[in-house]
Amino acid sequence: MLVYAVFGDPVEHSLSPAMQNAAFSAMGLSARYLAFRVRRERLRDAILGAEAMDFGGLNLTIPLKEEALKVVVPDDNAAAMGAVNTVAFKEGSILGYNTDGLGALRALEGAGVRVDGSRILIIGAGGAAKAIARQLALSRAELSIANRDRGRALALAAAVGGRGYGLPDLEKLVPEAEVVVNATSVGMKEGDPRLLDGRLFREGQAVFDIVYNRKTELLQDATRAEARVLDGVMMLVYQGALSIEIWTGRKAPVDVMEQAVREELKNR
Ligand code: NAP
Repeated sequence: MLVYAVFGDPVEHSLSPAMQNAAFSAMGLSARYLAFRVRRERLRDAILGAEAMDFGGLNLTIPLKEEALKVVVPDDNAAAMGAVNTVAFKEGSILGYNTDGLGALRALEGAGVRVDGSRILIIGAGGAAKAIARQLALSRAELSIANRDRGRALALAAAVGGRGYGLPDLEKLVPEAEVVVNATSVGMKEGDPRLLDGRLFREGQAVFDIVYNRKTELLQDATRAEARVLDGVMMLVYQGALSIEIWTGRKAPVDVMEQAVREELKNR
């Protein structure tokens, strides 16, 4: 039996074990996926240990994605993002990938949202926003990026070829956008302050909130405005499915994985 794992700190609330174990069993693979708390300063030891024990592969989550670049050989995409969320052990090499951006693109495309040539507003400039911005820029979206720390938005926009703004600009940016992506952590906790006035949303817009643990106020506002809404579950599912494809060379069953995640969320 092959062992796979997610490393993070904290990691006990990770949905990945439920999701990836459901995928492995639907694929008929003899594999088990576990979660381990790994402190940042011990990441090298943990990755080398997993390799020594013939683990099938790893996912990495907060706060380890950037640190991993000191240990793995990243592909061009992970190197450009400065973050690794998937580790594969192949022929004596420890390879690093980042599937977050492509996961977000697949989630949008899977919901029938056109990216190529669309005016897309990304709110946020942290790790997830970077991965999404890079991927959507590669897919020829016309990007605006707005962040609380405006300097970070300007830097990200310059890196991917978009325009950077601060949050006060949302009043003008939201109505103009065809697709709005919340890539901040706002909305993860009940009672988080709203990022923007929900009356700015409009019918015909697509609103994608990458937060996946609850239906955020942002999505509730977008639903009231009759915009098309997408939560973060499918991004989580596709980034995990892409990891499985890297490890096994096989397509992962995204429907089974979505069901496992939604079931797990219901039971929390
Ligand atoms: P991160 O690197 O820490 O970035 C956090 C972002 O949120 C920054 O842009 C930050 O702005 C902004 N922010 C935080 N608090 C804010 C506030 N009160 N008001 C306005 N902006 C605020 O985190 P991350 O790794 O990018 O993750 C962001 C979210 O995405 C998390 O909820 C995470 O769970 C989710 N996520 C989902 C998936 C998925 O598969 N669905 C994948 C990855 C991440 P500043 O720059 O101004 O601090």
